[in-house]
Amino acid sequence: MPRSWNDRALVAVLLARFVRARWGYRFRSRARFDAWQRRRLARFLRRLGTVPHYAGVAQPAGVELSALPVVDKGVLLEHFDGLNSRGVRLADALGVALEAERTRDFAPLVAGDLTVGLSSGTSGRRGAFLVSPRERMLWAGTVLARVLDRRSVGQLLRLWAPPVRIAFFLRAGGNLYESVASSRIRFSFHDLTEPFDTHVAALDASAAAGAGPHVLVAPASVLGALAERAHDGRLRIRPRLVISVAEVLEPEVAERIRREWGRTPRQVYQATEGLLALTCEHGSLHLNEESVHVEREWLDAERTRFTPIVTDFDRRTQIIARYRLDDVLRVDPAAPACPCGRVTTVLAAVDGRADAVLRFPHECGLREVELFPDVVRQAMAAASDAYADWRIRQRGLDLHVSLASPAPGAEARVHDLLERLLQSHEGRAVVVFDPWEAADPTVKARRIVREPARG
Ligand SMILES: [Zn+2]
Repeated sequence: MPRSWNDRALVAVLLARFVRARWGYRFRSRARFDAWQRRRLARFLRRLGTVPHYAGVAQPAGVELSALPVVDKGVLLEHFDGLNSRGVRLADALGVALEAERTRDFAPLVAGDLTVGLSSGTSGRRGAFLVSPRERMLWAGTVLARVLDRRSVGQLLRLWAPPVRIAFFLRAGGNLYESVASSRIRFSFHDLTEPFDTHVAALDASAAAGAGPHVLVAPASVLGALAERAHDGRLRIRPRLVISVAEVLEPEVAERIRREWGRTPRQVYQATEGLLALTCEHGSLHLNEESVHVEREWLDAERTRFTPIVTDFDRRTQIIARYRLDDVLRVDPAAPACPCGRVTTVLAAVDGRADAVLRFPHECGLREVELFPDVVRQAMAAASDAYADWRIRQRGLDLHVSLASPAPGAEARVHDLLERLLQSHEGRAVVVFDPWEAADPTVKARRIVREPARG
């Protein structure tokens, strides 16, 4: 099929970004990087006046970023029509996205060529995000350039070599990923709303036929489940690269993958709102500051944890300017520079969403105590030989714990661990045990959640 001029232009955008993200964007110092980013940001801010919502704020000469109001999901939904440059109405975008999710047909577009992404609505309304073909190509170019191993890139570039095979497990929104399918890359998509073991059998069969995936991409919890099947001998794939997307990759899951396939999983920290961080070849999770400007709202006096406020200067369709994410990120202020040579910020961890931080009254009753997810995970790890999996839900002042396949005495041990943790933080809560329920694979897996108080 002959490609149109437009298609060729898009492929050129992808290739240019691929080359730049793989071999370019090298800065001798953070100061030089900051200067470069300020120029990109200035250009973004000058364009802002063309979007109705910012028409009154942005002057032709541009405006300081700090002069813009901080927005959240609520504002984005309320002013959706004025916050995109194509005049798409929220109702139309949501209609298309929900229909696509219902029919599992991800081809539908809005306004001719825009893809709609839905953000997961763990609390209340779901958000919608518009992505143009150009933005899709920038995304794909960045992800491929940053996560593919040297061997896969070599195979991509040798036109006579077989295409790189990538198995992709996803919950929704295939359109974004199909944009990178070509004669050099073969994607197999595995829709997680279909029975999981059907996918496992299909993958195993492809591996037996010598066509197993070179690269495995899936949400962290799904990678964990696949590694388990591999351990049981039901899945005989040998991926040379394992990529975790969409969920927080917990240390235990990373370790299980390493044991099974001898590969340290690379992480793509991606929200519908943007591509926020990627692991480099040295295993450090770098903020994607080549596309996103990140302001930090510090959560602790030591300045190790923050909520990011992001401005995505790559995007022109839906404006993401000073958008507060519902996530907690962690940095290590004493960490040395990454040996990969990038000067962008290295995250110690993505601690998950803000509602994964448990909050209890202090013993004195006058203030609150916060238990961060990494601290809770660490405590739970001390009894990890006593259960297969765990989940914690805070409801009011109760801490509801569920353990999968608990060994005799597991509950008592976990009870002690959590009691000790609470005591060390001088917090007050009651630990309760609930029966384990298998997770729904179509829902984002979350180990720790503070449920909103019921009114
Ligand atoms: Zn690095």
